[in-house]
Amino acid sequence: MDELKNRIQNDGKALSNQVLLVDSFLNHQIDIELMEHIGEEFARIFRDQAPTRVVTIESSGIAPALMTARALNIPLVVMKKATSSLLTEDILQTPVMSYTKGSSYQLMIKRQFIDKDDRVLIIDDFLANGEAALGAARLIENAGATVAGIGIVIEKAFQNGKKRLSDSGYQVESLASISYMNEGVVEFDEDK
Ligand code: 5GP
Repeated sequence: MDELKNRIQNDGKALSNQVLLVDSFLNHQIDIELMEHIGEEFARIFRDQAPTRVVTIESSGIAPALMTARALNIPLVVMKKATSSLLTEDILQTPVMSYTKGSSYQLMIKRQFIDKDDRVLIIDDFLANGEAALGAARLIENAGATVAGIGIVIEKAFQNGKKRLSDSGYQVESLASISYMNEGVVEFDEDK
């Protein structure tokens, strides 16, 4: 998606060869028009999979996921990063290793917000090692529902998340795929 790639080149900041800062348009200040275009693009890519619900993880996935759900005219559910390990019957949870924090948290969702016959589209801002998306997929499947696809705004293709998700049988689509980055330099896969 050229609009997104241009924005990353102009306003993104590679802090190292691991972390890209996009807080001026994606996850601190949010460019709503860009989010709208991202939502329309995910809707175009995944409409054929007939998703019935969009799921994301708080908080930086919410903006693109909201616009995707709007474009598909289906509900959005936000999975929470729980601070307590309290288990109750109406909550599903699973441990996830946070890429940016380097520690693990419990990802959780109330059962009532996911039905067995749902086809769920997972949307997230970044794909690194795939922990967050795999955790979300686990919860969806534990609820008895089906993962209809995984949409990622920015994939770091030099990390192994895409392979892990594809090997698990999920359709993964990203709107910008970074093949290499380092302080001040970002390079994209040619074909995205
Ligand atoms: P994964 O679970 O795939 O290892 O990492 C994905 C999650 O970590 C995303 O939800 C995102 O919040 C965060 N993340 C991973 N890489 C980056 C990055 O380069 N920049 C930012 N801002 N967040 C990242």
